[in-house]
Amino acid sequence: MGSHPESFVRDESVIGGDDGGFGPTDRIVGSVVDLAGVARAKVFPMSRLDSFIESGAGASPSWSVYCVDNHTALIPALTVVGDLRLRIHREDVRNLGGGTFWAPACLTEQDGTPSSTCTRTALQRATDRLSAVGVSARIGHEIEFNLFDATSPEEWMSYGLNAVLAQEEFIETLLASASVAGLSIDQIHAEGGLNQFEVSLAPADPISAADNLVLTRVLISRAARERGLRASFAPMAIAGDFGNGAHQHLSFVREGLPILSGGSGLHGLTPYGEAAIAGLVRALPQFVAVLAGSALSHLRLGPGMWAGAFRCWGLENREAAVRMCADTTGNPHGANLEVKPIDSSANPYLSSAAILGAVHAGIVDQLPLPNEVSVNPADPDEEVSVELLPTAPSEMLAELRSSALAQDLFGSLLMEALLTVKGYEYSEYRDKPVEEVTRQLRYAWTC
Ligand code: GLU
Ligand code: MG
Repeated sequence: MGSHPESFVRDESVIGGDDGGFGPTDRIVGSVVDLAGVARAKVFPMSRLDSFIESGAGASPSWSVYCVDNHTALIPALTVVGDLRLRIHREDVRNLGGGTFWAPACLTEQDGTPSSTCTRTALQRATDRLSAVGVSARIGHEIEFNLFDATSPEEWMSYGLNAVLAQEEFIETLLASASVAGLSIDQIHAEGGLNQFEVSLAPADPISAADNLVLTRVLISRAARERGLRASFAPMAIAGDFGNGAHQHLSFVREGLPILSGGSGLHGLTPYGEAAIAGLVRALPQFVAVLAGSALSHLRLGPGMWAGAFRCWGLENREAAVRMCADTTGNPHGANLEVKPIDSSANPYLSSAAILGAVHAGIVDQLPLPNEVSVNPADPDEEVSVELLPTAPSEMLAELRSSALAQDLFGSLLMEALLTVKGYEYSEYRDKPVEEVTRQLRYAWTC
């Protein structure tokens, strides 16, 4: 971990020298994402950067059972007693502009070894496991969000030219800060819902991609504030509207060649590519609580929402949980699989770990390609019957609890913490009126 191909600090000398050359108010924010998907942070003056790297900032083990509303769902192994550290790596530091620097943190024990509740480390394990069968992955994240206090409903057009031009200043601020931070944004567009936008990121290795996703949430949140707006990443920010997804596009290479194109299978799939799809389709129900597990997620993860609620795959099928994008000139990053059910309430490290673990298991088991669904499964006139992913709390929790794959990928403490945090969230919020919950949790995932 910590070795990234691109350097994200524009002027490396900024963090190189003995005195650092920092102003007295320059500061470094190190953050982790908890199991409710909320980013939590500590701030050091930039002059203490070395200490953040070497000793870290203190964090109670209870950080791993923090819930979406700041309740701590303590369990015997994760209480107020003990001390973990938030540690950052020098090469991960990004300049956000205006004197603020940011870095993704790992949760470690006092001696610097990774905590068993560190989700960034869990993703590293899943990535290594895939490498052990010769496969490396790249991930490109998408982030949907609503801007509040923006265009009035009567002026709004989905995918509208007016919608993007009305937010020119926000977009300018976002792109300027992305450029300072060295973040590659591929595309920005207005989405289907009211004041809903999407930012797509260029693909990167799984850890860097998840770091980039958190960074993007930070930059979107900051740009919105700077322009007098508020960004919401809630899976459903406005009751009854479209939801916000956070889809992942995955591509894989084995022995220098892509596994999703250039083969003799359907749409150019190789046997590895077929097994990867099969592994995903097999495992998805076990991981819904990880990918789209908030008390709001079920409001978007349904038929007709383009959220991939159906447990199937299909070429360019926007209702399928796994949408295949084939290798055409229309796909500048090559063939990839878009896993759609994920939303921004997911811890991005854990969701990528789950997905890579599912792909790995499919490859190891040499699973055959399931039938492709090439029609809209949400259309009652189509003669196709496809199962929906579970969204009932009891079913999501039971699927996760009994998943040997999840146990293996996350370990028993992280599993227990995850089940506790999700269980609390469902019991507290799933039965409340939708308007109330959307209002209460609207900004939980804003940075
Ligand atoms: N808003 C949809 C979701 O919740 C996705 C729409 C799209 O296909 O981009 O996942
Ligand atoms: Mg979208």
